[in-house]
Amino acid sequence: MGAGVAGLASAIVLSKLGWRVALLERRERLKGEDLGMILWASGVRALRALGIDATLDVAGTPVDHFEIRNEERLSSSFSGAHLGADDSTPSVMIHNAMLYEALVSRLSDSVEVYPATQVDRIDLVDLAAGDASRRWDADLVIAADGIDSPTRPLIAPGAPTVDAGVVVFRGIIPAHRAPERVADAVEIYGPDRRRFGYGDLGNAGACWWATVPGGMRPESPQIQHELINRWFADWPAPVGRFIAATRPSELTQQPVRYVWPLPTRLHQSVGNGGTVLMGDAAHGVAPILAQGASLALEDAVTLGWALRRSPESIPDALASYDRARAPRIKRVARISRRVHTIASGGRGVTKSLLRAVPDSWVQNQAASLADWQPPN
Ligand SMILES: Cc1cc2nc3c(=O)[nH]c(=O)nc-3n(C[C@H](O)[C@H](O)[C@H](O)COP(=O)(O)OP(=O)(O)OC[C@H]3O[C@@H](n4cnc5c(N)ncnc54)[C@H](O)[C@@H]3O)c2cc1C
Repeated sequence: MGAGVAGLASAIVLSKLGWRVALLERRERLKGEDLGMILWASGVRALRALGIDATLDVAGTPVDHFEIRNEERLSSSFSGAHLGADDSTPSVMIHNAMLYEALVSRLSDSVEVYPATQVDRIDLVDLAAGDASRRWDADLVIAADGIDSPTRPLIAPGAPTVDAGVVVFRGIIPAHRAPERVADAVEIYGPDRRRFGYGDLGNAGACWWATVPGGMRPESPQIQHELINRWFADWPAPVGRFIAATRPSELTQQPVRYVWPLPTRLHQSVGNGGTVLMGDAAHGVAPILAQGASLALEDAVTLGWALRRSPESIPDALASYDRARAPRIKRVARISRRVHTIASGGRGVTKSLLRAVPDSWVQNQAASLADWQPPN
């Protein structure tokens, strides 16, 4: 259920193991968004395990120089290269639509895709999912239906979605109009819970993201563009240049939500089959540390490992999957939530923290979050 990053990656993994997969997606087309995003080294390793090279196949731009600033000064700067495990895996800025294309291109003939299929019936006893007109019986139901997954409360009640109280506007600018960047990726923490970040997408141009307090804005893209201009008017260069170079049609906005507390379990076994939660459906994390897509890819790769390990028993595989994923998910979700809470604190809190923490601490935190290797 769901052909986002988690669903597509799971379908690739299962088909490689020789399964027949029905991929049910409510959208009419399998395509990504016109957005830039960071994929940390952990996600790049997970992609590689799926047979996809983040630099060659997704045209990822290595983040060799990442900066965290406040409006007045640089607070810390570190390299996103070689984060975590002792290998040469880079962290990259990527175009979301290119990531989707790479994943979709790896779907084999054993994956039947059903677009425009909104699952509204899930049977966790007889293991089936369906919409108004069809029902698909399965040995394994993968709920990869995003943060609002209706399957999560059925498997693990008490893991609601929390509104983070901020909204993120994102812009993407083609290369010929993109302003000059001072680093591969930058995040600037300002007053009133506002943040502005930008990144280099190589030939695909540049992208930026602006976090502001409040809910989704109902105004037209033109008015939203004017509002963003006003909110960030006195911010240091090149913030204004990024906003000015973006056309209202190149803007999107997304609410920020996360799952908290986390589900106490990620799967439910029935007979020799079961249902499992993956990606944001299982653990939508506050996006402040840009970990969500990496976690979704890691989930899929770990499920493949668990099914290879217990080919005779899906329940055993799901139990191994749960055990392997729980500590990692807990850690990333806790840190993401903590950083989100600090960043939502008063101006003084964020400012003094940014001043107090040394570069080496930030680099170590980033390294420990990216420290994931495919299990073997
Ligand atoms: C502002 C913002 C910035 C972010 N930046 C980054 C970043 O830089 N790096 C990063 O790694 N992550 C980032 N993330 C997080 C990342 O986008 C998500 O974690 C990731 O996309 C989750 O993938 P998913 O497949 O689990 O869920 P989704 O992408 O939500 O996919 C779920 C799919 O299920 C489908 N679906 C839902 N319900 C049904 C149904 N009933 N029937 C059929 N289909 C259904 C949906 O249409 C969708 O295609 C960001 C998130 C936000 C909000």
